[in-house]
Amino acid sequence: PEVSRIRNFCIIAHIDHGKSTLADRLLEMTHTLDRTQMDSAQVLDDMDLERERGITIKSHAVQMKYCSVAGDDYTLNLIDTPGHVDFSYEVSRSLAACEGALLVVDATQGVEAQTIANLYLAIEAGLEIIPVINKIDLPSSDVEGVASQIIDLIGIEREEILQVSAKAGLGVPELMEAIIARVPSPADNGHLPLRALIFDSVFDAYRGAVVYLRIVDGVLRKGDKVRFFANNKVFLADEIGTMSMKRQPKQVLEAGDVGYLICSIKDVKDAKVGDTVTHADAPADKRLAGYKDVKPMVFSGLYPVNSNEFEDLRESLEKLSLNDASLVYTPETSVALGFGFRCGFLGLLHMEIIQERLEREYNMNIITTVPNVEYRVLMTNGETVIVDNPSKMPDTARITNVEEPYVSMQIITLADYIGNIMKLGMERRGEYRNTDYLDTKRVCMHFEFPLSEIVFDFHDRLKSISKGYASMDYEYIGYRESELVKLDVLLNGEPVDALSIIVHRSKAYDWGRKLCGKLKGIIPKQMYEVAIQAAIGSRIISRETISAMRKNVLAKCYGGDISRKRKLIEKQKEGKKRMKQVGRVEVPQEAFLAILNID
Ligand code: GDP
Ligand code: MG
Repeated sequence: PEVSRIRNFCIIAHIDHGKSTLADRLLEMTHTLDRTQMDSAQVLDDMDLERERGITIKSHAVQMKYCSVAGDDYTLNLIDTPGHVDFSYEVSRSLAACEGALLVVDATQGVEAQTIANLYLAIEAGLEIIPVINKIDLPSSDVEGVASQIIDLIGIEREEILQVSAKAGLGVPELMEAIIARVPSPADNGHLPLRALIFDSVFDAYRGAVVYLRIVDGVLRKGDKVRFFANNKVFLADEIGTMSMKRQPKQVLEAGDVGYLICSIKDVKDAKVGDTVTHADAPADKRLAGYKDVKPMVFSGLYPVNSNEFEDLRESLEKLSLNDASLVYTPETSVALGFGFRCGFLGLLHMEIIQERLEREYNMNIITTVPNVEYRVLMTNGETVIVDNPSKMPDTARITNVEEPYVSMQIITLADYIGNIMKLGMERRGEYRNTDYLDTKRVCMHFEFPLSEIVFDFHDRLKSISKGYASMDYEYIGYRESELVKLDVLLNGEPVDALSIIVHRSKAYDWGRKLCGKLKGIIPKQMYEVAIQAAIGSRIISRETISAMRKNVLAKCYGGDISRKRKLIEKQKEGKKRMKQVGRVEVPQEAFLAILNID
């Protein structure tokens, strides 16, 4: 298509504000899809997990043909963006592939933290923003209140804000016209050497990586030899095309187009989001701006419950990582848990997704250790070591200092909850910065937090202390020195490496006490006494004791028949629980995550 008739845009919205519903209406209006194809609605979210959680995990793109009221034909490319902070780099690359963004805000909810974070990314990327207030059909909608929030936020005129009901289709034709009128057409750079931005890649078992890209400069033809900047690898463009609901092979993709490229890439790590594709023979000199090698932020050990499933776990992780360039894993051994893997994730949600997929899609029974961040340790000998597993933290005597990653966080809430949130901030070693009023009732609070303090249940706590009226978003800001110590757990004097954690010195005693108490409740009675101790180095800071099981007493309490039945039931229950033999002690799986619900 002619460049002046192309519009590339995305939708920015907080979860549940109606992004998928609106996308469905656009697809329907442009006859990209008809009603019957949309049985379960929300076509852009195609993984089960995404559907269940109501979030879009991976970005996709879809092309629509639209004939305007004036009678001109347009090609619209809607690029879907992931909605969660773990995937904010992918969001930034999806935005970079667009010229415009629809800012969708629920008329009953108002602007939320994630929306603001992504809005800023879109403004930074120079996109034309079209604000859209959705759900105006609902009686509880406050269109004018939400409009004034949006005006404050981006300094736009009231008339420029659209009102729609994505569900009822109200205002959608006007939105279509606004998109072609207000979103700029792509730059006409067809004469330049090829540069295409990768904004997503997925793995196809038969074709290898399918690379989603935006042609920024030049022309890509089927059969061209292409080179990827990040690794200098050269591939042959076997197939190129555009995506409507299915892949539509084409001979040529030109500057301004959004499409896909298939070139027998066996590993998605060779087609990284943010990288630039150019011609192997007539390359561009410089890659497109904004490439970043995304690094995992949260780490955890994954171990098979049955040690003989180690190879199965390796295969499953291998398959998962084929489709997920940001999942990293290396084999590790634990004295307590045996052979397993240390896995790195973009964030907690990413970690949960991987764990769930391993269990559901690959039928793995796994034990997960407490997630931790990556520490930078300056040793007395001048070396710096990176520690991604608490049990690998060197001896205190050899350490000069320890640094941990920090994030800057914004929390949007009602003014009523400022006090509660300040308190939570203090509990989590947050440094309060300032508070902006969005309107008379809603505020945006700014903090800086150690990442480690928010990987445990921070979001749930925030929701509960604000009765659900708070949303948060954060970005990584770098490493800072902290007073951190390693807290070990000993069972009958034996350290259990998989239970070691790294905590701030000021919290160590409290955590040690609570952790021992918690473990006492989780570890069942054994044939002999079990001592649970928490220690910093060789110093024991807390102790609990599980007394030995007394069979004869039990037998006395419950008469013959009942006792046997009971035992049978207990036995069956135990069988279902995942137990791990640590030294002589049977430890259930929950124990390795006990820390997660300490408070
Ligand atoms: P997403 O998380 O942003 O993709 O949001 P969805 O599109 O999944 O919508 C979240 C919920 O809001 C769903 O139950 C939709 O049916 C509902 N919804 C979306 N748009 C509207 C609307 O215009 N009016 C009403 N009443 N409900 C809507
Ligand atoms: Mg959705």
